[in-house]
Amino acid sequence: MSLGFRGKLFLLAALMIATVVGSVGFYVEHSVESSLRSRLELELYRHAKNTGVLLEHRVDGDDLDAVADRVADATRSEIWIFDLEGQPVGSSVLAPLELQQLAQVSADPELEQARQTDRGMDVRTDGEGNRHLYVAVKVAAPQQAVLVRASAPLATVQQTLAQLRIAAVLAGIAGLGIAGVLLTAVGSQVERALKPVVSSAAAAKAAEPGDGESGHGDDGPQSLRTVAVDLERTMGALSTERNRFEAVLQTLEQAVLVLDADEKLITVNRAAYRLLSLPERAVGRSLLEAVRVPQLKALAAAAAEGGTHHDEFELPSGLRVDVRATRHDDEGVVIVAQDITEVRHLERVRRDFVANVSHELRTPISVIRANAETLLDGALDEPKVARKFVEATHRHSDRLGRIVSDLLDISRIEAGRYSLNPANLNVGDVVDQVLDLVESNATEKGIELSVTIEPELDMYADRKAMEHILINLVSNAFKYTPENGKVEVTAHAPTPNRVRIEVLDDGPGIDPAHRERIFERFFRVDSGRSRDMGGTGLGLSIVKNLVEAQRGEVGVDPRSPTGSVFWFTLPAARPTSFENETPEAATS
Ligand code: ADP
Repeated sequence: MSLGFRGKLFLLAALMIATVVGSVGFYVEHSVESSLRSRLELELYRHAKNTGVLLEHRVDGDDLDAVADRVADATRSEIWIFDLEGQPVGSSVLAPLELQQLAQVSADPELEQARQTDRGMDVRTDGEGNRHLYVAVKVAAPQQAVLVRASAPLATVQQTLAQLRIAAVLAGIAGLGIAGVLLTAVGSQVERALKPVVSSAAAAKAAEPGDGESGHGDDGPQSLRTVAVDLERTMGALSTERNRFEAVLQTLEQAVLVLDADEKLITVNRAAYRLLSLPERAVGRSLLEAVRVPQLKALAAAAAEGGTHHDEFELPSGLRVDVRATRHDDEGVVIVAQDITEVRHLERVRRDFVANVSHELRTPISVIRANAETLLDGALDEPKVARKFVEATHRHSDRLGRIVSDLLDISRIEAGRYSLNPANLNVGDVVDQVLDLVESNATEKGIELSVTIEPELDMYADRKAMEHILINLVSNAFKYTPENGKVEVTAHAPTPNRVRIEVLDDGPGIDPAHRERIFERFFRVDSGRSRDMGGTGLGLSIVKNLVEAQRGEVGVDPRSPTGSVFWFTLPAARPTSFENETPEAATS
């Protein structure tokens, strides 16, 4: 037989009541019994003691038996008097004659204890099955020391306990009755409240495709169990969904901030902390308190009114951001900010580059066109003048060719189409080869050239790129060093893995303000002078690109007392076993 919902609740209540009544009853019974027994023991002790006092002040003619009778009458207890051997000498139960005939020596435990310690106690059941409490004391009566024993049945204690038990059982029954009434009343109320939940759960279950047979509409607890299982499943799915959302949010590169209706931050991702330099534990703070950027606040305020708003501005950190703010359902705002500093920088570089290229090309082209027009307009007929114009045209077309060729080189390196095939090279050999090519420029200006290279210094680089780098640096040094100046090329290995090559000159040096930009395309300290010297403003940019493509570094330092030290580093030669491996630095 299976119990209903209410039956189970009633059983539970009954069990609880039985446990409580049982344990409380057990405790109370024990404490009441021990308290009653100690009171009775104390009373019997007093009676025995009083008997002793009477014995000490016995009137002549009072025998011991008479004293025992008198005390027993007064106290409604049983009094016995024994000599120290245990022979009864007085009793409230036996007549003196009977007592004399009683030749039996008593060795009851309480007498034995009293003999030794002046006081004894025992609980025994008599021949009729009644339990008695015995208390004995030793009395030093004038004629002889005796043992006085007072005893009484424990029946009163047992009666009190029996009454207690009945009271406990009655209380338990009353409790059960109340529980039954309460359960009936509360149970029907709960049932009424749960009925709609149960029936909609059952209906939903029945409507589930393929699962309809498990939805027994009437079975409340069963339906509730199903609701609980479904709820647990939904909570699990929600928590998985939330973790997934959190993971995506945290890995986004865009900064995401979610504000509530009071413009307080409720969700912030890692990128937002980084990009907007938010203080620690920004969640819970107001937007303006966390980010002191008025444009951001204005955007959030506009979005709070509805719609999506967009703006681009610079943060106090100097970073440029593209920000979008949209109102979300519960009247808060979602802000998404993206770092576009690099994008804008590249756009500017591209714009500048196009402007620079056009500017650089315009001069030689206009000179060539003007010269051609002058020639066509009649200068051709004057051979002397014509030659001047043709020479100028040649010079400018030459320059045009150099610019185009340098630009092609740069775009090839940047696009990774300048093929690099690094190999172990002897630094001295490469430097000597380059100097052979350009030395004549130095000789023309009376420049003294010296080379200091550590012996057996090898590096791992592409020969063509190395020559290109060195030609540009050494040509610049010759170009900017005044006549009879001094140019030096040195090379050493600052660490076992690096080779450093330096080109030192006696030129005007580079102003510290320009050192950062000197390697940019078309950057020239003195553009007129550079152009006059045939410079394109692209040489150092090519050097930088080629060095960095080979995992090296490049820079310029001042030289004392005047001049510059252009330097670059490249990897040292590899052990021969590695040399044939696919070169990491090579671009295809
Ligand atoms: P250019 O073809 O004009 O020399 P580069 O890219 O080689 O172009 O150099 C860029 C600018 O750097 C030059 O215009 C010049 O102002 C400066 N520069 C380069 N090398 C030196 C040097 N050794 N001494 C002084 N200035 C230099």
